[in-house]
Amino acid sequence: MKTDYPELNPAERILLGPGPSDVSARVLAAMAKPTLGHLDPEYLAIMDDTRRLLQHVFRTTNELTIAMPGTGSAGMETCVANLVEPGDEVIIGVCGYFGARMVEMAERHGAAVHRVEAPWGEIIDPAAIGRALADHPATKVVGVVHAETSTGAHQPLEEISALAHAAGALLLVDAVTSLGCVELRLDDWAIDACYSCSQKGLSSPPGLAPVSFSPMAAERIKGRKSRVRSWYLDLSLVSRYWSSDRVYHHTASSNLGYALYEGLRMVAEEGLDARQTRHLDHHRALRAGLEALGLSYIPERSLPNLNAVRVPDGADDPDVRKRLLNEYGIEIGAGLGPFAGKAWRIGIMGSSCTQRNVILVLGALESILGDMGVAVPKGAAITAASGVFAS
Ligand SMILES: *Cc1c(COP(=O)(O)O)cnc(C)c1O
Repeated sequence: MKTDYPELNPAERILLGPGPSDVSARVLAAMAKPTLGHLDPEYLAIMDDTRRLLQHVFRTTNELTIAMPGTGSAGMETCVANLVEPGDEVIIGVCGYFGARMVEMAERHGAAVHRVEAPWGEIIDPAAIGRALADHPATKVVGVVHAETSTGAHQPLEEISALAHAAGALLLVDAVTSLGCVELRLDDWAIDACYSCSQKGLSSPPGLAPVSFSPMAAERIKGRKSRVRSWYLDLSLVSRYWSSDRVYHHTASSNLGYALYEGLRMVAEEGLDARQTRHLDHHRALRAGLEALGLSYIPERSLPNLNAVRVPDGADDPDVRKRLLNEYGIEIGAGLGPFAGKAWRIGIMGSSCTQRNVILVLGALESILGDMGVAVPKGAAITAASGVFAS
């Protein structure tokens, strides 16, 4: 039996894909601190501060604001499993991969799902949600994706929120890629349930899923007629661990908790407005550079922190990504589903969103594409991006 396995020695990457994003040295150092028991008073105090920090980044006063164990998908499933009872009618906007995943989860939890679709790369038309609500007046929940990471599209939420509430439905929002990067206001926009992840805009490692529920959503959950089908994700159980009851539910990972806490602390230190501005400014520079290279954006309404562009004619998609990784240590995202082989997704989220990284990825792309015989104007991308940074 082999017993001499190599020591871990992961390469230093620059993570410019759809997540995970770069984890700062501060967060990695926080993770290496001593493990505490999940009921240690010191850890419970960190959880209380984590809740306050989460309320701050979600811009909410929601009491039911916690970090679920698991990745963004666990956040999605927590919301769906707790809000949906078998037979409930649910409307879900689908214009990309993650809206479709929400449909799949809602169906598994027994919902009768009405899809409101838009082509990949577009956003959901609020009027189409309005028509679906008129067609299905018993709808309990309207679910939409704020930042559709598979297409880079940025979905406005306020109009959909008003329509959902006028029809007596709750609004469920996927903010996995928007939280910590893009303007998101749970209370002002009357979002009833929202989930995110630790590894994109918050620049911590994957493993925790922030979720938040409005008082109305919490009431709805309390009044369920049937038990939540998932024991692990049942908020009536998990919330007793986060509340002053402190009832054991699962062994929370204190080290992952430290990472999220430190990531959130960095967001609060920078300030939410400053952070949004940083992502917008870097997006403008990256966009100017990518367009100077001749690359075109897929969505009309692009997210600042996730830039989906078409793979240009003459470029070998897997080879470009392989060379970025091997020669420059840069990871970018490939296209998903109908965009496989047709899109590159360049993320500048949280700690990855720096001037250095924007200039680096533009220079690397120019060099690789030039080698492949794609006509790229020499120096134009960096000149364009530098011009934006200087302005
Ligand atoms: C990444 C992502 C998810 C899934 O999150 P995981 O952490 O991979 O489980 C869900 N929705 C959106 C919009 C995402 O970008």
